[in-house]
Amino acid sequence: MLLTLLNEFRTSKNSKTRKLKMLYRLILNHGPIRAEELSSLASMKPATCARLLDELSKSQLISTSELGESTGGRKPILYSINSDDGYVVGIEMSDLYSTILLLNLKLDILGMLKIKNEQLETAEKMLDNLLIKVEQLLSEHQLTTEKILGIGIAIDHILERDKVEFSQYDARITDLFSYINDRVPCFVTLGSGITFAALAEYRLRYHSKSQRFLFTTCDTDIRSCTVINNTFAPASISTAQAFGHITIDIRGQRCECGSYGCLKQYSSLSAIKTRIIQQIRLGKSSVINKLVSTEAEINYHTIFQALAMDDQLCLDVLEEAAYYYGLALANAILTLQPDVVVCGGTLTPKNHFFAMTKKSIEEKMSAFPHIKTRIFPANDSYEVVAQGAGGMVLENYLSD
Ligand SMILES: [Zn+2]
Repeated sequence: MLLTLLNEFRTSKNSKTRKLKMLYRLILNHGPIRAEELSSLASMKPATCARLLDELSKSQLISTSELGESTGGRKPILYSINSDDGYVVGIEMSDLYSTILLLNLKLDILGMLKIKNEQLETAEKMLDNLLIKVEQLLSEHQLTTEKILGIGIAIDHILERDKVEFSQYDARITDLFSYINDRVPCFVTLGSGITFAALAEYRLRYHSKSQRFLFTTCDTDIRSCTVINNTFAPASISTAQAFGHITIDIRGQRCECGSYGCLKQYSSLSAIKTRIIQQIRLGKSSVINKLVSTEAEINYHTIFQALAMDDQLCLDVLEEAAYYYGLALANAILTLQPDVVVCGGTLTPKNHFFAMTKKSIEEKMSAFPHIKTRIFPANDSYEVVAQGAGGMVLENYLSD
């Protein structure tokens, strides 16, 4: 029943269906919520809203509760989406551990499988293996792929691993999509980790607090994704790392993109590694010299080890990277004026990286006290990408 109706949302252009979908979407974003608030958010007459709510309730898309605060007299009724009967699967494909999650429509995790990749396999071979595991996970919950809303898959790790050229991304994604679409009888969507992580962060923690939401991650690439007015319009996978190429200093080093002094040259993991090696070559002391015997052995893992030991040289380089990342974010804040910025990625939880980033943003923004942007670190759960991949399935059912 739920699946049939949500399918109608996805395909029908009928004006009543669109109104039902809009209302359902508002309940998903703002629920538990009262009818009065809903009719005002939807700019609908209370009577029309009540009629549509009744229809959504009868078809079990939404449920009601009476837990709202009473303003004297009868307790107000609160509307929430009914998450009991709808399921999505979210997958993060990775060359180390792939994650498969079974989620309800509120993105609560009902089941999880982690799959270690023992050897290098083609993306197609990995997908074959993952789909077998999906069937297993579903059957543990008395489900089949026919009964779920769909599967969302984050595939950018694999495209990166396979060193697919950005110009070839769309063609490769189309190939992978048709490969998997031929093998499963449900809706499938492919996307990038940043958009899925942004969606999960937004849906789970900020949907009622933010109308202009900016999510960013700092890793080997620096990425961003925005959600404006509850509308999720992610960029394509091949352009998600564009934020790393905003110009920080035109006199800076040449970047792989051809410009000079891009953010990536200052704040990415690769920039940090290069800077640390330069400093060690200059004879600066660092615990890294004890961790490796040759320069070629220095990798991200070594740097994280040194940071965990509070190595001063690495801390200084990290601080400088955070300073520039903060400046770039302040530029984005001046342009977009988001109400919430969330910083994620590998570097954010390292030592003082987030605190330094925030300080750098706040110093720059102190001249603009009327721009009130709040800055938070991302939830550092490993499941957030797969959770967002599942969330993207529902997002596709509800998009216009
Ligand atoms: Zn660049």
